Amino acid sequence: MTRPERPRNEDAAGTAADGPRVAAGIAGIDPRPGLSAVDPEALRAWIAEAGHAGYRADQLSDALWGGRAVALADARTLPTSMREGIDRAFRFDTIIETDIQVADEGRTERAIHLLSDGVLVESVLMSYPARSDRRARDTVCISSQAGCAVGCPFCATGELGLERDLESAEIVDQVRSAARRLAPHGRRLTNIVFMGMGEPFLNLDRVLAAAEAITDPRRFGLGARHITLSTSGVVPGIRRLTDLAPQYTLAVSLHAARDPLRDVLVPLNRRWPVAAVVDAASDYQAATGRRVSYEYVMIDRINDAPDDAAALVALLRGRGAHVNLIPMNDVAHTPWRASPMDRIEAFAMTLRLSGVGTTVRRNRGQEVGAACGQLAAERAGQPTAPAVARRRALLVESSARALRGERTAQTDRRR
Ligand code: SAH
Ligand code: SF4
Repeated sequence: MTRPERPRNEDAAGTAADGPRVAAGIAGIDPRPGLSAVDPEALRAWIAEAGHAGYRADQLSDALWGGRAVALADARTLPTSMREGIDRAFRFDTIIETDIQVADEGRTERAIHLLSDGVLVESVLMSYPARSDRRARDTVCISSQAGCAVGCPFCATGELGLERDLESAEIVDQVRSAARRLAPHGRRLTNIVFMGMGEPFLNLDRVLAAAEAITDPRRFGLGARHITLSTSGVVPGIRRLTDLAPQYTLAVSLHAARDPLRDVLVPLNRRWPVAAVVDAASDYQAATGRRVSYEYVMIDRINDAPDDAAALVALLRGRGAHVNLIPMNDVAHTPWRASPMDRIEAFAMTLRLSGVGTTVRRNRGQEVGAACGQLAAERAGQPTAPAVARRRALLVESSARALRGERTAQTDRRR
């Protein structure tokens, strides 16, 4: 299998016009394991077996996690023969190439990553300067899958369908990429959110292994409390996580408190209805002591009426949860728009007056298509204009039915 050379353009600002170059002729994923997801003890054993001294493992670890080395060739403390041996067995980085687009006066970076089989995924790095009441934060929003099978109609990733699950190392390497871009500025990642492309709880084994690498003090070493896992409501996954009782923050993408509407907005709701999702999330909160946050995308005249707020209060009151209201970001294939700000504020006020903690979140990166729900890693094979038009018409019809309170057996996306 031919592999492309890894161009070292990570720090160069790309433009939408030059875009990521998709390497031709890559049939499958490079079979060599990505080093960032290899257990440190296993790696140490491999190095010993290859006849190298124990301190070489520390030198490799420095290169992997120190935030400076872009490629194995940069690990100059290692003898060439050892580097060659490692390269035959492993991948130093599972990301072949990263293109960066900058927005919000340099405070948001959209990174489009090319993987070994030509698949593209995105991560978004957001920097929040220090305020009087808060230290500076650098948060990276990472992807767990290429595309997503859930098919929420307001989400560009959902429109792609599922391309494939990401490997653990492909998830961790998005974090390393962001950390390497911060390091020259003397900054470190403070938070990692699984809110990029994909449904983390439908790729849970690999997501958990990635989170383990990120929190492992011998590897990336970030505290578990600084990691947020977001789900559209995969109940068995939430239950599995609850049994493990980690300190990750759980975010649940709710978007509607009543089943007929949530069936349309989050098609997974037909399998796991909203009450079951909230019960599972509450059990996670009880088991871990971590407050669950609920995400609610505000869509003009779809889920933003006083009745919707009342239903949300009835669902969440007394559960000690927190709601984030997110004005919907525009995506091409829907006729929907963000609710006007005064309606969002009124909705927030209803929740707060009922004792449900609520924040109105303003999204970053909209001008480069890097805001929540806009991640679709521009690529060939975008839906054609008639397909988009058909899809919009279907959505109008299904949401009208849902708003009348009718639950339908099958209204989800079909292309
Ligand atoms: N699949 C997971 C995590 C990735 S989506 C989930 O759904 O939770 C991350 C967040 O972006 C989710 O809360 C999702 O509902 C939100 N989102 C999707 N499309 C959006 C849009 N067009 N505008 C604003 N937020 C959106
Ligand atoms: Fe998938 Fe989340 Fe987008 Fe829904 S909102 S389609 S679950 S990525």
